[in-house]
This record gives sequence, C-alpha cells and structure tokens, in this order.
Amino acid sequence: MKSEYDIIIIGGGPAGLTAGLYASRARLKTLLIEKGLVGGQVVTTERIENYPGFEEGIAGPELIKRMDAQARRFGLEIISGNAAKVEDSGDSKVVALEDGKKISCKAIIVAAGAEPAKLEVEGEDKYRGRGVSYCATCDGAFFKNLKIAVIGGGDSALEEALFLTRFASEVYIIHRRNEFRAVKVIQERVFANPKIKVIWDSVIEKIEGEDFAVKKIAVENVRTGEKKELDIDGVFIYVGTRPNTDFLPVNTKLNDKGYILTDDNMATSIKGIFAAGDIRAKLLKQVSTAVGDGATAAFAAERYIEGLEAKG
Ligand code: NAP
Repeated sequence: MKSEYDIIIIGGGPAGLTAGLYASRARLKTLLIEKGLVGGQVVTTERIENYPGFEEGIAGPELIKRMDAQARRFGLEIISGNAAKVEDSGDSKVVALEDGKKISCKAIIVAAGAEPAKLEVEGEDKYRGRGVSYCATCDGAFFKNLKIAVIGGGDSALEEALFLTRFASEVYIIHRRNEFRAVKVIQERVFANPKIKVIWDSVIEKIEGEDFAVKKIAVENVRTGEKKELDIDGVFIYVGTRPNTDFLPVNTKLNDKGYILTDDNMATSIKGIFAAGDIRAKLLKQVSTAVGDGATAAFAAERYIEGLEAKG
C-alpha cells in the first residue's frame, strides 16, 4: 500500500515546526498534526530572551507565528488532531487520530513536547481554574493587586513569578530546597524584585478555598518541620513537566522519567520513528535546542526514506 505521506510530524512546537520546514524544503510530502494551538508551551511564554537573533527578546506567540508562516511557505500541511496511537508495520507507519481517522506515512517525527506536571496536593484539582493555574500568561491578569504563590525553583517558576509581579501585589516563591535551579540572570532579577518573597525549604501541603476560590495554603518547612498558613488568592504551579508519549508503541525506549531515548540523529528505538524537542531525554530543554533537534530529525528521516526507496 502506498503511504499517504512521506513524513508525519506529531506536535507543532518549535521542534515540530522546524522539522516541518526542513522536510518541506526537502520536497517530502509532510503533514504536521497538532492537538491544540500551534506552538505548544512556547505560546504560553510571555518573552523569550535566550533564542538567538532577537536582541530584546521576542514574545512566544510572535516567534511561533513566524515559524509557522515560514514552514507553511515551503508547503508544510498542518492539521488539528489528537494522535491517539502510532502503529508500526515496519516500512509503513500509521497515525490513528482520536476521531478514528488513520493516516499512513513512511516516517514519523514525534515532537509532542511535554505538559506541566501536577503537584499532587489536596485542593489542586478542586481549585484548578479557580485560583490554581499552570499558565501565568493565560491567567496572570486575573490577579490584579492580589497575593500569589508560585511553586518551584526552575526557570519556569522564576520567569513566571517575575511576570506575575506585573499584576499581583505580592508573589511568594515556595521552593523545596534552599537554592534555585533556574539560570543565574533570572535569579538576580527575582532577588532584586521588591514584590517577590522567597520561602525556602518549604512545600505546600494543602490548597484551601471558600466560595469556589483559593483563599489559603498550608506550608511546611521541610528542615524545621514548622507549619504555617498563608493567605493567598492564587497558586501557580511550575514543578517540571511530563512528556506526552501515551500514543507511542509500547516498545519505544524511554528513560526512567518517561522521556524518549534517541541517538545523536534523533532516531528512537523504533526504525523510522524519530523524536525531537522537549519529549526527548536530553540535558537542555529550550527553544534553541528544540529547533536543532527538529532540523536533525527531518534530515535523518529524509535519509531513512531514501534508504527505503533504495531497497525498493
Ligand atoms: P524544572 O527545571 O524541572 O524545575 C522544576 C522545579 O520544581 C525544581 O525547582 C524542582 O525542585 C521543583 N519541584 C519538582 N517537583 C516538585 C514537587 N513535587 N514539589 C515541589 N517542588 C517540586 O522545570 P521547569 O522550570 O518547568 O523547566 C523545564 C525545562 O524547560 C528546563 O529544562 C528549563 O531549563 C526549561 N525552560 C527554559 C526556559 C528558558 O530558557 N527561558 C524557560 C522555562 C523552562 P528541585 O530544584 O529541588 O528539583
């Protein structure tokens, strides 16, 4: 059976769009499937300062708009859909969508990224959308002159805490250790911001509310055991990410945290399936590394398809 596409890319963040750009320029018939908004986590990022070429930084949505237009200019086809299953029959692959549609191809590039991890505390689900949020860019403006807690000590927590100071009267960063893992330049801005107070060595035990809105959190100092309550109106959770790999064949090799293992050419453990971007096990997860992964994955997929054709 003839495959409908040369390459199907699952996920339309920077990795997927770059793979789409390269594959389309190689004149491979390429389809990108995105389940939500094209752009993934980047569209919820207010400003990106470490993507080269933009001296003053660039807004996440603007960067994605440009990547999307550039890839489409060379013929990338983009559809909205949720990949439910990837079926591997050797030289041909099938992506089954949630709505029952099946699309065949010769190679797949998985660039479905990751989504915010949950904190798994009492009240988190109950007050989600009622004060509990995972997206400062989406929800920050609802907290004008209110008090907010940000949980986590990575780049996301600190960048978003800084963003939230535009709206909130006070922002508490609650971190389970006494040292942040975020890049130093962002830490310096956090320490210099009078609206931000850091609560070190602490975890939250419970989120409580009244009338369908968050009102307070219970905080415990993990060193001293001291417990206290903080009156706050919002909790923004940035405790890492969880890769979107549920649809992959069960024999896809993952690391202990569930991220896809690849070689240097982005090849996964399954022939003809490549992975790129934040879904991959790697040291540095940023837009600049995602685009490199996407370019490499597309080039490697092209080589793989040439090999199939040579085999006849
Ligand atoms: P991250 O770097 O994994 O940081 C997660 C933070 O949450 C850590 O400080 C961690 O504490 C804390 N944490 C994890 N589980 C927790 C729990 N159960 N309770 C309390 N705290 C918990 O995640 P991220 O900040 O979302 O970033 C993800 C990736 O994207 C990183 O590679 C990051 O560099 C990248 N990123 C880059 C940029 C940028 O370049 N501008 C922006 C955002 C994200 P510990 O430190 O104790 O482990």
